[in-house]
This record gives sequence, structure tokens and C-alpha cells, in this order.
Amino acid sequence: MSLKTRILGLLAGLIIIASAASWLAYRELSEHLIERWGEQVAEIQVRYDSARLLQSLEREIGLARQMARSSTLISWAKAPDRPIFKANAIRQMESFRSNFRDNSYFVALRENGHYYYNNAANDFAGNQFQYVLDPKKPDDAWFFHLIEEGRDFHLNVNPDTELGVTKLWIDVLMRDETDRIVGMVGTGLNLDTFLQDIVDIDQDGITTLFVDYNGAIQLYRDRNYIDFASIIKPEGQKNTVDLLFEDPEDKERVLGMLQRLKDNPNQTGHVESDFVTVDGRRHLAGIAFLPAIGWFEITLLDLNTLLPKSHLWPLIAVFLTTLLVTLGLFHLVIRTRILKPIVTLEHAVEKVRAGSFELPKLDKPNNEIGRLADHFEKMAYSLQHSTRELEEKVAARTDELSRLARIDPLTGLKNRRGLDEILEDEIQRARRQGSGFGILWLDIDHFKAINDELGHQAGDDILCRVALWLKASVRPYDHPGRWGGDEFVVVLSPCDHPTLKQIAERIRQSVEQEGKKTGSPFTLSVGGYLCNPGDTGDRILRYADRALYRAKAGGRNRVCIERRDDESVLTEN
Ligand code: GH3
Ligand code: MG
Repeated sequence: MSLKTRILGLLAGLIIIASAASWLAYRELSEHLIERWGEQVAEIQVRYDSARLLQSLEREIGLARQMARSSTLISWAKAPDRPIFKANAIRQMESFRSNFRDNSYFVALRENGHYYYNNAANDFAGNQFQYVLDPKKPDDAWFFHLIEEGRDFHLNVNPDTELGVTKLWIDVLMRDETDRIVGMVGTGLNLDTFLQDIVDIDQDGITTLFVDYNGAIQLYRDRNYIDFASIIKPEGQKNTVDLLFEDPEDKERVLGMLQRLKDNPNQTGHVESDFVTVDGRRHLAGIAFLPAIGWFEITLLDLNTLLPKSHLWPLIAVFLTTLLVTLGLFHLVIRTRILKPIVTLEHAVEKVRAGSFELPKLDKPNNEIGRLADHFEKMAYSLQHSTRELEEKVAARTDELSRLARIDPLTGLKNRRGLDEILEDEIQRARRQGSGFGILWLDIDHFKAINDELGHQAGDDILCRVALWLKASVRPYDHPGRWGGDEFVVVLSPCDHPTLKQIAERIRQSVEQEGKKTGSPFTLSVGGYLCNPGDTGDRILRYADRALYRAKAGGRNRVCIERRDDESVLTEN
């Protein structure tokens, strides 16, 4: 895996870990905020809904209470058979009817169980008396139950089978001056209109319902849940609020909240709230007790509708964009600031390793890598400099060694190797140009004896002197050399026969004369050969050697030139 992939992978991993941590923190915080917000909204909503309900009912309840306190009605209730009381009472009832919102009323007398009613259409004018309440009839049980309970005021959702209407009934007990219950009055509000006004509000995600003191559902958008005539139902048969919740814990929680509110009835306006699941969706339930009517108001906030998760998509999009942009930027930075400089540096290192100092242009960003590249460049230049110096020194030494390898250390003349090379060059040149060259082979006469007589050092001195005289006797472009021992060779180029002979003779004479001056005279013999184009080295040396042999054999201190056709010319001094 490349460095880039590793770094980017590591970065992506770190970003994801950091993001996951931030996401968890965000979720924790947002949950908390949503909870706090939901609680406040639930509280506000509960208060708002309660206010709407109470506002709607307050006037009706007030009127019903006023009606219950009417002395005309109370007098009539106490003596229902007196026609004058009845006529006054019905007049009074009718005047109340015009004031009730639903323009309807009912009055039930305890004395004789007579039930009176009239509606908005005044359908029962002159015929307000409807029927006699029967304690044995289940439909009439509400009346007897409420009287028995003795609560002055009661709200009841009930279908009236006799009248064929379902209404929210406001029931107020009528008492005489001795506080004895003499009857019941009230009005009914059309349940459908009421539900539409209070419960079927067009607010997405907010559900409002009202339950009575015992938790029986009284107002709810789904009529199937409404616990009609709950007053007369025994406990356990009522449609209580816990029916809305599937989770037993939720049921317990909601009933617990109702209980807490019941236990603290003086905390007016207090709202209990908690999370519950309704229809598989998470809701925040806010519950308040409405002491004026003895009901609870429950508001269910569907948090997913009010705060849909889709709101988080932009956040996720921002996160993903940030991740991609970060990775892109990081990739760019790594590439330009780290990877590219490293790659060019790597190429440069490869080149230097392969022995080339022609470095590519190095990237030098203003960071550690840039400085490293700079150091490397300087190091490469200095290495190049020292290598060149070293190479030059080695070349010079090699040249010197090569020169020394071709020089005779004693005489300073070319040695046998040097002479061999010259001979080879001349053979080639002779071939190329078709012209010959001369070779002289010289050997000091009786040198052994000189050595023996005068010593080895004196012998060396003579060798050195012969070398000097030899150099002085030949032309500047000729090549004198020491073949070995007391033998010398001179390569003469260009050369012809007379020249060869002339120079050989000059050398011989020079050595003879100079030798005499030293006090211990000595001579040398010279063999010569004029080489022709095409002669090989072996042949040349053989002929020269043969000529020298002849010179020696001929009595020494003489020159003998060997011809190719084996005719030798002997030159004597
Ligand atoms: P000839 O006339 O037949 O040449 O007789 P020669 O005594 O010179 O015999 P030869 O050329 O064979 O002897 C060469 C002698 O040169 C033998 C050896 O002791 C001597 N010699 C060889 N190299 C050196 C040297 O470097 N220094 C000295 N002093 N003597 C050398
Ligand atoms: Mg000799």
C-alpha cells in the first residue's frame, strides 16, 4: 500500500472516528434539547388546549350554574305539581335556552323524575316535558348516579337515546335552601361541533384528548375510543386512556402521571410530561389537570412529525461534503508538499546511486522534506565534485604509473615494454604508409668483465652514461631504450639504409670515444636492420639480433646491418 493511500486511509479513519464521536455528542445534546423543547411545547400546548376548552365551556357552565340557582326553578322542583310554578319555570327555562350556545337545555326533577327538554329549533315548545326518568332503566342511570354522587357539577359525554343526540352534557345539581338536591339542570353541546373545535385541530403531529377524573376518554378525535356514559359504567369497563398505549410501561407511566396530578390538585397549571409510544411512533405526552371541570387534558406530540429526521439530511450532507473536501485538500497537500518532493528525491537518489550526477529538478517545499531535498542536492554536488577530483587524481596516477611502467628506472630511457609499444606503433605505421623504419640493437662489449673488475655500481654508471650518449647521438624523433641488462635498442623513424648505418656508426664511435675519456674504456657492438612494411615484430627483432650477433662474432666494437635477403653489411671502425 502506498504512503498516500495509507495517509489518506488513516485520515479518513480519524475523521470518521471524530465525526462518530461528534455525532454521538450531537445526538445526545439534540435529544436533550428536543426533550426540553418538547416538554415546553407540551406544557404550552396543554395550557392552550385547556384554555380553549375552558373558554368554550366557561360561559355554558356559568349559565348552567345560574340556571341551577334560579329560585323559580328550585320552587318548582320542590312543588312540581303546581301549575303556576311550572309555567314560570318553563318561561325561565326558555329564556335560558336562548342564552345557551346550543340553544338547548334540560331540567330533571328529583321529586317526580320528570325530564324537560327543548332544543334550538324549539321543537318541543309547549311540550317540554319528555318522559319520566326510571331508576331501573340503564339509560337513565346517569341521573340517579350523579345525585347519589352529590357532585355539584359534572361533564358527561352521552348519547341520549330518547332524544337521539350525542352531546357533551353539562350537568349541574339544583339544591334548595337546605342544600337538598331537588333536581338537575344543564345543557348539551353538540359533540361533533365540539370535537371539531377543540380536538380535531389541524396541527400535524399534535393530538389532544380529554379524559375524566377516572381516566375515561371523553374527547378524542377517534370516536370509538370515547367512553360514552362513563358515569354509569363500572370500573374496568371504561375506555380509559391507557387503551391508547401498547407498551405496558407506557400505560403505567401515563396512569402514574394522572395519579401524581390528582395527588397535587392545588398545583394549578402544573404539567406532567414523559415519552410514550403511540401507533409505533415516539410521542411526548403532556398532561394537566383542569380542576374547573375535573378532567385531564392530554397532549401527544409526535416528535418525528414535529422534528422530522429528514431535517438531519442537510447536516449529513454537510458532513459528507466536509469529509470529501477535507480528504481532497489533504490529498492535494500531501501530493504537492510531501509525495511529489519525495518521489523526485527518490529519482535523484536512484540517479546518484547509478553514478549519474545529472539530477532532476528537485521539489523543495518549505518544510522538512524541502530541507532534506536541499541537503541532498548539496551533498550530491559535493560528492560529484570529490568524485571528479578523485577521478582526475586516479587518471593522473594511472598515467604516471603507465609512464613509469615504460621507463627504465636506472637510465631513464624507455624499457622493454615501452620499446615494444613503439615497435608495434612503427610496424602499424609502416604498414599504413608503406615506408620502413630502422632498428638498432646495441650490446656493451665484455660488460661482465667490467662489472667484475670495477663493481656493479661502476657497471650501473656505465649503463647510465651509455644512455646519455645514446640520446645525444640520435635525432629528437628517434626512440632510444634499454632492452635489458647491457642491451639497448633504438627505433629510428623515418629511416633509410644510409641513415641507419650512419646513426649506428655515430653511436658506436661516440661510445668508444667517450668511453676512453672515463679512464676505463669500453665499446659496444651494434646490430641494425632496416624494417620493411609487413615485417612482424618477431622477425624484426630476430634480424636485429642476428646482426648484433654478427657484430659480436665479427670482433665486437662494430656495426653490422642485416638485410632482409640475408645479405649483411658489416661496417667496421
Ligand atoms: P659480450 O661482449 O659478449 O657482450 O660479453 P659480456 O660480458 O658483455 O656478456 P653479456 O653481454 O652476456 O653480459 C652482460 C652482463 O651485464 C651480465 C651481467 O652481470 C651484467 N649486467 C646485467 N645487468 C646489469 C646491471 O643492471 N648493472 C650492472 N652493473 N651489470 C649488469
Ligand atoms: Mg655485453
